Amino acid sequence: MISFVRQRWGRSLPPFLRRFAHFFFRIYYNMGDCIFCKIVEGTGQAAILHRDEQVTVFRDLHPAAPTHILIVPNRHIESVNQLEDADASLMGHMFVVAKQIAAQENLSDGYRLTVNTGPQGGQTVFHLHLHLIGGRQMRAMG
Ligand code: AMP
Repeated sequence: MISFVRQRWGRSLPPFLRRFAHFFFRIYYNMGDCIFCKIVEGTGQAAILHRDEQVTVFRDLHPAAPTHILIVPNRHIESVNQLEDADASLMGHMFVVAKQIAAQENLSDGYRLTVNTGPQGGQTVFHLHLHLIGGRQMRAMG
């Protein structure tokens, strides 16, 4: 239901309703402890595709496209705004893993990598993550 609402109505909602929807999703996804930390630790359920010392990769619960995968740093970092210089190689690693997963998923025609940042950037889960979205034609940005 939630994915249906996000996919079908998300972009066409008037701005005040879109803000309300984002407020709702932020509450919904952040009830209790960090859901992505639980998935990284193995106590939260997810369809895991890859794990290494730095990142965990799993399928998005409410896919916005035929392929929708999240690449998540194992360490809790709230958003891009909390990144430090020392995190540069971790961010590079996330992109390299994204490329490898895209190849595994046969996304040879292309895909989209997105990092939503902060409430106005559409971030609803406050544990930094890279969306890997593909399997359909993406609309141009803007
Ligand atoms: P964002 O809105 O950029 O913060 O993205 C958060 C994403 O996390 C959304 O696409 C949700 O569908 C997804 N999500 C929330 N909870 C889970 C979960 N338990 N397992 C997998 N994906 C999730």
